[in-house]
Amino acid sequence: MGDPRGFMKIRERELPPSRPVEVRLLDWKDVKDELGKDETVLRRQATRCMDCGVPFCHEGCPLGNLIPEWNDLVRQGQWLDASDRLHATNNFPEFTGRICPAPCESSCVLGINQPAVTIKNIEVSIVDKAFEMGYLGPHVPQRQTGKTIAVVGSGPAGLAAAQQLTRAGHTVAVFEKDDRIGGLMQYGVPDFKLEKRHITRRLDQMRAEGTRFRVSVEIGKDITWDALRDRYDAVLVATGAPVPRELPLPGRDLDGIHFAMPYLIEGNKAAAGDDVPDQITAAGKHVIVIGGGDTGSDCIGTALRQGAASVTTLAIGKKPALERTDSTPWPVDPRIFEISSSHEEGGERNYLASTVEFVSDESGHVKSLKVAETQYNADGSRTPMAGTEHEIPADLVLIAMGFTGPDTGALAGQADVAVTERRQIQRDEAYATSAPGVFVAGDAGRGASLIVWAIAEGRAAAAAMDEYLTGSTELPAPVTARTVALRA
Ligand SMILES: Cc1cc2nc3c(=O)[nH]c(=O)nc-3n(C[C@H](O)[C@H](O)[C@H](O)COP(=O)(O)OP(=O)(O)OC[C@H]3O[C@@H](n4cnc5c(N)ncnc54)[C@H](O)[C@@H]3O)c2cc1C
Ligand code: SF4
Repeated sequence: MGDPRGFMKIRERELPPSRPVEVRLLDWKDVKDELGKDETVLRRQATRCMDCGVPFCHEGCPLGNLIPEWNDLVRQGQWLDASDRLHATNNFPEFTGRICPAPCESSCVLGINQPAVTIKNIEVSIVDKAFEMGYLGPHVPQRQTGKTIAVVGSGPAGLAAAQQLTRAGHTVAVFEKDDRIGGLMQYGVPDFKLEKRHITRRLDQMRAEGTRFRVSVEIGKDITWDALRDRYDAVLVATGAPVPRELPLPGRDLDGIHFAMPYLIEGNKAAAGDDVPDQITAAGKHVIVIGGGDTGSDCIGTALRQGAASVTTLAIGKKPALERTDSTPWPVDPRIFEISSSHEEGGERNYLASTVEFVSDESGHVKSLKVAETQYNADGSRTPMAGTEHEIPADLVLIAMGFTGPDTGALAGQADVAVTERRQIQRDEAYATSAPGVFVAGDAGRGASLIVWAIAEGRAAAAAMDEYLTGSTELPAPVTARTVALRA
């Protein structure tokens, strides 16, 4: 039981400082000041947790994290016990604790009339301390089942499933088409949000437990899906939802217009010290980012670090409300105006901005965007308002308008996995596709989502696969394939 009056004594929400903008723009390191962690502050903040009878933080988090339990252990300075409770529901709190948007904090009961408990910062502090103290060694299984599993895709869904299944005694190989493990956490999320050493540290543990990794192997090309299915007792498709939403406007094929992902991937590779020939870079350029979401925000931070002359974001919709509205009451995750670390660093954000055309210079390179004000129509559609067009100079345009779903071509053709009319992979509640022994988890099944959902799905799919292979399972299944986020 926590301190029942803690929240009355400590009302202020305290977080470690971020590094000054002018300093952090000079490098790719985490914007948060790693040295800014103060144990006294953390324990004081954990004391604010009310150990609620109905802890809504559990409802907000798809992992069902045991938040009040580890808050109380931190309050008492019992870091290793806190790490055990934290890892009981989450394989990778060092990732969620850094870059999850923390729906748990949005649904924290204290948040009704005080700032929410600093759940995310306490989470990451517990796991960092546990690593520092050498507490997170390998959990080698006591017995082997003799069953073999191929996990395709090494993002958080694939990694969570692989760790659960390896620990359950199965022989697990993770296949990854990129040259490094980690999925979008490796090649997507920039280092200033998640330094890659955190991935390496966890992979060391997984390798020591027995999970095998095969990089630069694309299933469907280097090995066919049906050959993989023949070779392994079960297969998990955890290939993400990489197909980008297009913006088919006049001038789309001009030079200098790219989807966000190739730009971010090359940026991450360069930050890792790789030689990236003909890298798409923002250095010295007027950059337009189309799309106001997380991917767009990552493009802003990357462009500013590369030395862009200017960065402007265009969002087609209205500027979100500054506070919760009636449509997003507590405890649902509110869609409010967010200021990410990249937004703090610079750039301009324009709302109600509909791109109409990409304008060419004489050499076939984009030189500007024709943009109009967005008009909301009676049927809910949005169109550019006639007569409001104006031009914005652009040397580099990054399209960050989200993702439409998984790449299903080879999977459907080679493994006989059914896809829906909307090109989603068909699956039942327990993550099974139409092909026996083939399961799907993470963004590949759910559509573009969050790391916390990918981990939750990976854990649950592992339970379903364990049951498929052995007839029963003791692995946890925090969500079904149909579970949705808390809604009003
Ligand atoms: C730019 C960006 C920033 C984001 N920032 C955040 C954030 O801050 N917080 C958050 O919670 N979420 C964020 N997300 C979302 C989050 O990264 C994803 O929801 C999550 O990574 C999905 O995990 P996954 O394991 O399902 O797939 P992915 O992470 O997409 O991993 C899939 C992997 O499968 C591999 N693969 C695909 N096909 C094959 C094949 N045929 N053979 C072998 N390998 C294959 C891919 O190369 C990739 O490595 C962000 C997404 C993007 C694009
Ligand atoms: S809802 Fe907030 S205050 Fe209540 S148990 Fe969860 S973290 Fe603690």
